[in-house]
Amino acid sequence: MSAKKRVFTNKKVNYLPRAFITILLIVFLYVSYIFIFHKPSLNFEIKNVISLNEFVISIFEKNSRIKNIDIRLISKDKNFYKFNIDSLIANHELQELNDKKLKLIFNNDEEAISFLKKNDGEKIILKYEISYENLFFDRILINEFDLNVDVSPPKIFDVRTDGYVYLGGIGYVAFKTSKDAKNTYLENGNGGIFKSLEIKKNDYIDHLIFFTCSNIPCKQNKIKIISEDMLGNKVQISRKIKTIKNKKWSNIKIFLDKGMITDKYNEIFNSNLDDFTKEDFLKLNKEERLINETYINSVTSKISAKKLFDGKFKSLANSKVSSEYSELRTYYFKNDDSTILDKQYHWGIDLSSVKNDNVYSANRGQVVLVEKTLGIYGGVVIIDHGIGFYTLYSHLDTINVNKGDNVDKQTSLGTTGTSGFAFGDHLHFGVFLQGTPVDPIEFLDKKYLGIKIFDPYLKFKGED
Ligand SMILES: [Zn+2]
Repeated sequence: MSAKKRVFTNKKVNYLPRAFITILLIVFLYVSYIFIFHKPSLNFEIKNVISLNEFVISIFEKNSRIKNIDIRLISKDKNFYKFNIDSLIANHELQELNDKKLKLIFNNDEEAISFLKKNDGEKIILKYEISYENLFFDRILINEFDLNVDVSPPKIFDVRTDGYVYLGGIGYVAFKTSKDAKNTYLENGNGGIFKSLEIKKNDYIDHLIFFTCSNIPCKQNKIKIISEDMLGNKVQISRKIKTIKNKKWSNIKIFLDKGMITDKYNEIFNSNLDDFTKEDFLKLNKEERLINETYINSVTSKISAKKLFDGKFKSLANSKVSSEYSELRTYYFKNDDSTILDKQYHWGIDLSSVKNDNVYSANRGQVVLVEKTLGIYGGVVIIDHGIGFYTLYSHLDTINVNKGDNVDKQTSLGTTGTSGFAFGDHLHFGVFLQGTPVDPIEFLDKKYLGIKIFDPYLKFKGED
């Protein structure tokens, strides 16, 4: 018996050339990609619609050099509008266009405006050509895509208003817009902007805007209503608003006792100053006041959709108004009426009763701010009553609600005191509409609230 011998072939395979070829191929493909096939890319940050507003292109380019970019809008009838982007590109080095964003702006270009207006509602083509060179070739990249033109702003119609406000009071305007309205607001000309309450209907949007012109008449006795669509197409109309000057704001002089005011300063800033100057007073009365009012404005600017309040607002029971809204206060040091230290308006009413009297919420709402020490305001509670209306309670000694609490009319909030920049025990009561302080007196009057707020609101909610 002979054992079968296994035969092993012992061919030697040399893998080296194969690996070498593979590496060579990879290198070749990589080099080809970079130097032959690699091309710049260009993206438009617009969806499918173009308006008269600027739009942005971003250009990404690597290992090639862009020589020229040509962007055109071409209409159905082959008319075109060419962007002048040479000047835009001139601001950048062409070689440094990597991932650059360029803003294309129509500005007041008559040609662009008439081109887009002529094609409003139509389809056009956006075509671009980029000529570039890489290591081996000069090339041109051409691409195009469809765009819809929309240069029509929303329409505003059926405008209704009673056409007047009282000084420091509330006004309203109700109207409809077309459904494309995305941002609709009112400008009072005095820096105040008021957003609209909206109800979307099948064919239109119903709007109601409550506004105030603050403690002065609306600028030129009118208001502007502005409505923008998603593309920034904007329409603006104005309406006459008469301001009825049914009251006169008071001016008072306040003479400050240096000792008392130094104590207040030290209490508010937690300091131990003993020599008190005009600059110290301005730091307290002007700078700190502005910081506090800016903060209060930001808290009271939001519109909560649901109206929580009803009936008249209730102020501090059995109290007297010791200071009115919009009172202009001129400050002096005691025994020196030659130097005016500062002038400030009083953006609420001061109500005095007994020491540490109970403070109740003026109406139904939600507590949105509780601060134990808010600068010159001291202990503060702010309640959101919905649809843009807020009340503020300041100089409180104690506070017994928390942020987020829902309160009814006459829910206990705390007690009056002298916290913040207050001397005698009193409640500072403020009412705000979308960040602007209004005269609280109007809110204590049921008839006034009915005419200016509840009736227009009911009509707005009940309309079909
Ligand atoms: Zn006050």
